Amino acid sequence: MSDASFSQLPLAAAQLENLESLGYTRMTDIQAAALPPALAGKDLIAQAKTGSGKTATFTLPLLSKLNPRDFGAQALILCPTRELATQVAAETRRLARHQPNVKVVTLCGGQPIGPQIGSLEHGAHIVVGTPGRIKDHLRKATLDISRINTLVLDEADRMLEMGFLDDISSIIEATPESRQTLLFSATYPSDIRKMSSRFQRAALEVTVVATH
Ligand code: ADP
Ligand code: MG
Repeated sequence: MSDASFSQLPLAAAQLENLESLGYTRMTDIQAAALPPALAGKDLIAQAKTGSGKTATFTLPLLSKLNPRDFGAQALILCPTRELATQVAAETRRLARHQPNVKVVTLCGGQPIGPQIGSLEHGAHIVVGTPGRIKDHLRKATLDISRINTLVLDEADRMLEMGFLDDISSIIEATPESRQTLLFSATYPSDIRKMSSRFQRAALEVTVVATH
């Protein structure tokens, strides 16, 4: 945990109150290092251990840009598994509690696609999902990500290990080039570097080494 408080960040007063009510008093080390550039719109490639609070590091920036009156998808978060996508969606909803009517939709494989299509028809601000199922929705034209402003690749190393590179590439082709791209990975192998140089612009590297 760092000594820095969330109140140093350019966040709305209502969000600061929400964070306090969630018991988020101090930023974790990765949050203290990555939130200032991420909130300034920079692309990031961030590495920190599990449980270090990476979700808030990408969720707070995308929520701060969110327009609740626009029901088109504004942010897409790709995760390797349904379990992780479900956790990220839950944390995103908690961090959006102060913003009424923010709709977060989870799109993962292994679940019927019909109800997912139904919930997309009502509009979604934030889409969280696994690459295979997101690609299925793009193929069916049931999801439009052509106007998102933030793309998150969470646990990118695991997504590559699972063979999702081609799906991720074709998903990214359907997003605007002007997007902010935030890439998170527990490890930093050369294919993650390659992925970063292919999909990010002047990405800032933020690495927090474990200290106990
Ligand atoms: P990671 O993705 O790095 O593994 P998570 O984002 O899932 O970690 O966060 C781990 C846990 O820590 C979650 O339960 C989250 O709500 C909590 N958490 C994150 N940031 C803070 C903070 N600044 N203060 C207190 N709890 C936090
Ligand atoms: Mg995580």
